[in-house]
Amino acid sequence: MSDYHVLDEATLRQWLASRVSLADRLGGEPGDWRVRDVADGNLNSVFLIDGPAGSLCVKQSLPYVRVAKDDWPLDVERAAFEAAYIRRVAPYVGKLAPALYEFDPVLRTLAMEKLAPHVILRGAFVAGRHFPRVAADIAEYVAQTSVNTSDLAAPFEARAGDLTIFPRNVALQRITIDLVFIDPYKVSARNRILPALEPWAARLREDDEIKRAVAALRLAYLTKAQSLLHGDLHSGSVMATPDDTRVIDGEFAGVGPTGFDVGNFLAHLVIAWFAAPFGPGDAAAFRARLEGDVVAFWRGFRHRFLELALKAEGDGLPTSHFAANDPHRARLLEAYVDDVLRDAVGFLGVELVRRIVGFAQVQDFLSLGDAQTAPKARALSLARALLKEPDAFRDPETLVAALPAHDHAGLDPRATGA
Ligand code: ADP
Ligand code: MG
Repeated sequence: MSDYHVLDEATLRQWLASRVSLADRLGGEPGDWRVRDVADGNLNSVFLIDGPAGSLCVKQSLPYVRVAKDDWPLDVERAAFEAAYIRRVAPYVGKLAPALYEFDPVLRTLAMEKLAPHVILRGAFVAGRHFPRVAADIAEYVAQTSVNTSDLAAPFEARAGDLTIFPRNVALQRITIDLVFIDPYKVSARNRILPALEPWAARLREDDEIKRAVAALRLAYLTKAQSLLHGDLHSGSVMATPDDTRVIDGEFAGVGPTGFDVGNFLAHLVIAWFAAPFGPGDAAAFRARLEGDVVAFWRGFRHRFLELALKAEGDGLPTSHFAANDPHRARLLEAYVDDVLRDAVGFLGVELVRRIVGFAQVQDFLSLGDAQTAPKARALSLARALLKEPDAFRDPETLVAALPAHDHAGLDPRATGA
């Protein structure tokens, strides 16, 4: 990491000026460029730069977790994995991700397309805003990335390439292992449990069925190398306008079970549902739109996955093994995607849990202040049902129907039979 240094506004200008294609994109002279520090995430520094001719977004990995600084050192190499992820999926996702212009492997810095007037989807949800295209666009994104980086479409050699690169993204995958799959199910100083939710947290630590379900999901995350995952596909990793959707922040990329990304995105739709209402506005209408999103995302993903996989020619289900239009191949693919969706139900459950009792909490609930306890308990009630009886959730309509059923759960888990 010899010449690595943390960029500030002045050194950022120098760096941009030294890179001809970036300086050209901005136009004018370095003194003409307007630089804004907009980091609002947990980990990195992010700058938006506007010049007379164009704009850029620059993201740099810091040698620590930004929100915890000296207490939590973190390998800067994650930027290289984010760059590798963007490049690997770009041919399949097109305009559903920002363009990567340059990656500097010394400064661990990405220069990419500045998205404007896009807003972070989570912020929109907290304000009660809804974007009608997002569910279908994210379904397309996950279907494209997961089919095209799996053995259903990618040649064995390309998969082998992914497996030499992305499993080395160990620093961030360690965070996922700890924060998603381990800490919430034990006593940990990193957990953040509201006092009124202690009985729920105790049940998560003690319930044998939950332990078994979480163990199976943890092992699936560690061993089920189906496709390249975004790895952190929540509403804070989506930027949108009413007619454009982009996925950002692929630094958690790894090879794993496809259902991980699917379940993660579902979890944050469900979180927004339980967190509503959060102020003035029509909560019932907002919730109905989110319910529509759950169905559109699930069905859209399944439909596009099958459409893409049917046409694909990987080493997993080669068409040469089947007669033309042999329904067996289609049936095997349906079984494959339904297994992905079954995994997704479990990953949805653990994502709900970790955002409620774990370290990384979400603004949807936090913005409710003192009123966050009851909706968190209700979401935990659903999470327990998802983990204990995943087979009861074989379609999105069942999931949507379960939301109001858990919306009356009280603060005592025993009283709800959970
Ligand atoms: P972190 O990994 O630190 O969470 P993100 O990649 O999520 O970093 O980016 C942090 C914030 O920077 C985002 O929430 C968003 O507000 C802004 N941002 C990130 N990428 C872009 C982009 N390409 N264009 C505009 N803003 C962006
Ligand atoms: Mg991030």
